[in-house]
Amino acid sequence: MIPEIINFKLTSRCNHDCSYCYASRSDKELGLEELGGIFTRAKSWGTKGIVLCGGEPTLRREFDKAVRMVNEMGFRLFLAYFWNY
Ligand code: SF4
Repeated sequence: MIPEIINFKLTSRCNHDCSYCYASRSDKELGLEELGGIFTRAKSWGTKGIVLCGGEPTLRREFDKAVRMVNEMGFRLFLAYFWNY
């Protein structure tokens, strides 16, 4: 079964500290090259969309480059953000 949409945690960083949060359990962030490899694999599966989430995805270093990569690869882009600074 092909995952039509993949939820991808860009970062654990967040401007909140919710006690129930699962995102903060790991602070590992993949590099852009690793991200590109995963997106390429998803493309080969036929995945149509990528959800960039976190944490707060806009706090991720090189967030703009990750967004550009998703767009340039032809995925439909969804953002799960809070933008509550
Ligand atoms: S990612 Fe969501 S649940 Fe986790 S700390 Fe931030 S706002 Fe709270």
